[in-house]
Amino acid sequence: MPGYRGRFAPTPSGPLHFGSLVAALGSYLDARSACGEWLVRIEDIDPPRCPAGAADTILHQLEAFGLNWDGAVSYQSAHRERYHQALERLREQGMAYPCSCSRKQWQDYPVYPGWCRQGICEPTRPCAWRLRSDLGLRLVIWRDRRLGEQCFDPADLGDVILKRKDNLWAYQLAVVVDDAHQGITEVVRGADLLDNTSWQIQLQHALALPVPRYLHLPLILGADGHKLSKQNLAPPLPTQDKQVRPLLHAALHALSQAPSAELEQAPVEEQLTEARFHWDIRRLPGYVAT
Ligand code: GLU
Repeated sequence: MPGYRGRFAPTPSGPLHFGSLVAALGSYLDARSACGEWLVRIEDIDPPRCPAGAADTILHQLEAFGLNWDGAVSYQSAHRERYHQALERLREQGMAYPCSCSRKQWQDYPVYPGWCRQGICEPTRPCAWRLRSDLGLRLVIWRDRRLGEQCFDPADLGDVILKRKDNLWAYQLAVVVDDAHQGITEVVRGADLLDNTSWQIQLQHALALPVPRYLHLPLILGADGHKLSKQNLAPPLPTQDKQVRPLLHAALHALSQAPSAELEQAPVEEQLTEARFHWDIRRLPGYVAT
């Protein structure tokens, strides 16, 4: 597909594990099978969560699995000015407001009830910035390429945080600004981020940015039935070729792409060539979109 530009956007809070490999691989194959570009963006806007060296480890792991990206790696920590401009734009339009409320104050409500919309409740306390979701209320409908039509009411989401009280930029704003800035046309990522997409589309509308297409890949569960994650100590991906080959094969299995059994020990380039050629999102577990 001409003009396809995808990306893998890990938070460098630790090394990649099997679950992140499946997300990176799905994103890579979707892009490469469409002869598209595939970028890597390191989402390092939350320094306390990002140990030194983790981003380099991630890049080294991607290389070991043959997941080669286009162009220079981009780092969100270098884009603060972009996020600032986006927030300014929303403020000028009256769509962003400072909020001093703590989570504890509204814990009996399903979402933040918007108390600070009419003026900060407690001016002496630090403020976050939120997006107003009560302006131009309408249902937002979008289509996931695996899960089909998704529909949400902004009132059920609450006013998303754009900048945190500790002055760090929020993931939702940063991801939307960068996807647009980099001209991303396709977002392929894990289904754990599905709920975020509604907020992101809401923000794209507010900032008059293009909405990419979305594909949320099935999550990989550990033996305990929970999603594999750094929190539940999923082991880091190895980088030694001997260990990498069968793991890549297993990741293709996890995406139900039916890799040839005889390629299990084959070099990663060979496995990726076959997988790229046969990539078919209709085989993904849980595919319902038509
Ligand atoms: N940085 C996010 C994560 O590692 C992913 C962001 C995205 O793909 O939109 O969970």
